[in-house]
Amino acid sequence: MKISQLNDLYRQLIIDHAQHPHHHGQLPQADQSVNLNNPTCGDVIDLQVVFKDQQIKEIAFSGDGCSISQASASMMCDLVNGQTISQAKQEIAVFLEMLMNNPDEPSDILGDAAVLAAVVKFPARIKCATLAWKALEQAITQEEQHAGN
Ligand code: ZN
Repeated sequence: MKISQLNDLYRQLIIDHAQHPHHHGQLPQADQSVNLNNPTCGDVIDLQVVFKDQQIKEIAFSGDGCSISQASASMMCDLVNGQTISQAKQEIAVFLEMLMNNPDEPSDILGDAAVLAAVVKFPARIKCATLAWKALEQAITQEEQHAGN
């Protein structure tokens, strides 16, 4: 995808998040870490999460990749930081559904990440947008298995 093909608002938000990602870094005290990559584009994400009392207490990511993958991770971390695990699971489901099936009606529960609905026009880039969310889904699964739920 040429990012210039997106409308200005979407483009600016994606550029802002990609250039100045929020929650970027490492959490040495993380309960769960997930490393995922998207070989078709070369995106890599390392997601680290501190869980406490069924909540995402802290979240951070590092890695490398295209603007879409980095912006999506930044937007997702903004959204789920401090939320409960069940809220985050719902948002992951809504986000993945948005990109797979329902791009015309982005849900307002997704915050800035709703703009990534625009990516659906560029099927090759959907995996870039979903990478961080799949990493979070996996981190939550690991945490639940760890907790014996
Ligand atoms: Zn990518």
